[in-house]
Amino acid sequence: MWKKINVFEDQKEHVKKYVFEKEDIAIESVLYKYPTYEERTVLCISTMCGCPMGCRFCGTGDYFVRNLTAEEIVGQAEYILESQIEGVNPRDIKKLQIMVMSMGEPALNKNLAKAFEILYEKYPGAALLISSSAPKVDYEWIRELSVQIPTVGLQFSIHESTDEARNALIPFKAKMNLEDIAKEGELWNKATGRKPFFNYCAHDNNDKPEDVQRILNLFNPKVWEATVSVICEREAHAEARNDYQRDLAVEFSSKLVEVGYNVRVFDPAGQDTIGGGCGQLWYVQDWMKENSEYVKPSVGCGLKKIHAPMLEKA
Ligand code: SF4
Repeated sequence: MWKKINVFEDQKEHVKKYVFEKEDIAIESVLYKYPTYEERTVLCISTMCGCPMGCRFCGTGDYFVRNLTAEEIVGQAEYILESQIEGVNPRDIKKLQIMVMSMGEPALNKNLAKAFEILYEKYPGAALLISSSAPKVDYEWIRELSVQIPTVGLQFSIHESTDEARNALIPFKAKMNLEDIAKEGELWNKATGRKPFFNYCAHDNNDKPEDVQRILNLFNPKVWEATVSVICEREAHAEARNDYQRDLAVEFSSKLVEVGYNVRVFDPAGQDTIGGGCGQLWYVQDWMKENSEYVKPSVGCGLKKIHAPMLEKA
């Protein structure tokens, strides 16, 4: 299916980046082991080449190429799990998580439904996680898919505690506001009996008690769980300041725990060496420069980029 597959590895951090190329697309997937593939394997795969959402911290938020087909979504997981995990049968992994959170907005690509059906059939024990920046679409197909497949999880990237700050970070206009996201999560919770997650990126301007209060006013801890993500740097080899970002994420997560949330901190490995973190996508950024005939500008194109250290000062 692929014309070229390149692999980049950070052995120390136990993470590998896969770059799959075809004539008109390049996409990235990331493979993590914690600490062995048998114990826990996490795979982040793409649903699009580029992305129309335009998130200002994301390396591919400026350009969009196209949605991936179901076969292209499944093909990333299949290639990695069947040939790249050192003789381990993927069906024997104690904890296997396949997340559509590398590149692309999954809620804008209905091919995901077919892809998840195939993945569930192949790897019935795997948790299949949808991570969405919450475009304003009808989520019924995602609710139905999540009822049909009991291993599907849902996470919305809220990232900020006000719509104003969120609009600056995610310029895509047709997206849900925080109140709509809260309602959508409640509907999903009612339909599936499982708790959705909200994902928050803490920085110096959104980690105050009033931010916690605003989140609490909308997102009921009886319905929602929280992920606090470490912010990654979108440019390759720029100063990542990751220790500082990590401390911020850990401190903010304790504030959420205090008000009743179950919280996990997401700190992607390999962000300083191979661009293993969210929105980094260094190789696709290079590919887009060299293959501009396939690339369309997204709403983010031309807007100010936001870098991890700049979020502190913004
Ligand atoms: S962070 Fe995700 S939703 Fe936002 S532009 Fe990047 S790929 Fe798209």
